[in-house]
Amino acid sequence: MQLCMAYVAEQVKTAAAVGVAVFRSAPRRYAMRTMFRILPVLAATTLGACAFSSHPTKPSALGTSRSSAELLAVVDQPGPIELQTIAAADWAVDRSGLLNLQHPRAKAAGLTDGDEPIQLFFHVVRHPTQGMYIIDSGVERALRDDPDHAAVRGLAARFMHREKLKIHVPLGEWLSRQNEPLRGVLLTHLHLDHVMGIPDVPKGTPIFTGPGETGARAFLNVVVRPNIDREFEGQAPIQEWQYQPDAAGRFAGVLDVFGDGSLWALSVPGHTHGSTAYLARTPKGAVLFTGDTCHTAWGWENDVEPGTFTADHPGNAESLARLRTLVREHPTIDVRLGHQPLTGSSGGH
Ligand SMILES: [Zn+2]
Repeated sequence: MQLCMAYVAEQVKTAAAVGVAVFRSAPRRYAMRTMFRILPVLAATTLGACAFSSHPTKPSALGTSRSSAELLAVVDQPGPIELQTIAAADWAVDRSGLLNLQHPRAKAAGLTDGDEPIQLFFHVVRHPTQGMYIIDSGVERALRDDPDHAAVRGLAARFMHREKLKIHVPLGEWLSRQNEPLRGVLLTHLHLDHVMGIPDVPKGTPIFTGPGETGARAFLNVVVRPNIDREFEGQAPIQEWQYQPDAAGRFAGVLDVFGDGSLWALSVPGHTHGSTAYLARTPKGAVLFTGDTCHTAWGWENDVEPGTFTADHPGNAESLARLRTLVREHPTIDVRLGHQPLTGSSGGH
């Protein structure tokens, strides 16, 4: 972290110094052109330097590798998990990030860019003997009550248009009303809008995510990384799911989280390297949490993967297709998408 940021700071300083010198000594058009030449060089030299987070990781202590055939054998049977989905906040972001607007079906539907209303969720998983877990994390209390000291601040807060975030229930406030401890956090991936509640998670609580999430490298990490690291400050090492190839070939990997077939982690790479979907078996049937393999109701209904927010479009599209196939073959599965409820969608027109 220190090395990376020092390196980046050095690059920024050099580029800025060159930029200032050019601006002082050259006509404006030439200066602008030179700056635009410098920025890609800065980006390229930084690209290999910065991972997504410097927070330590370790192999997960939970989860038994299974074949998807073992999941399918029980997926239609009632299970013991009690579930609750909490809409922690309303937000609005670019539709072009949430949906691939270049997809032929998006074009045919006439979808255009603009603000798309979304929500930030966390989902509560109560297991009769394992206790209470949450899937993703909502938002921290400070983001509503003391935003200058929230983990997301500065440039990243401006990038994400914090002013459009309407917070209903911060995670800390919700946790303070519960009469049982939080046993763990099951993250679908490490994007900022899925880890913004982590500062409210009691320190030492086990936190799980897919493999390789902290290591994803990108230029924007220069801005995002300090925020991600602040979200996890003081927390235990992030435990990475230990996926093995699915013997039945349906998913990249399948884990039985508690070993009793009640809660499953599915490897769905694409949106991010370690993107993970979860499937919980409740007394009323199975519930699938797609994470950001699909952000929107329109995307799910029309089989169109996310847009610019996704790292690997073909990989994301394939993972989305695999999840949709599972639900098509087992239509009683209740689907909870990354950022919108599946029913009542405006379709983003
Ligand atoms: Zn995401």
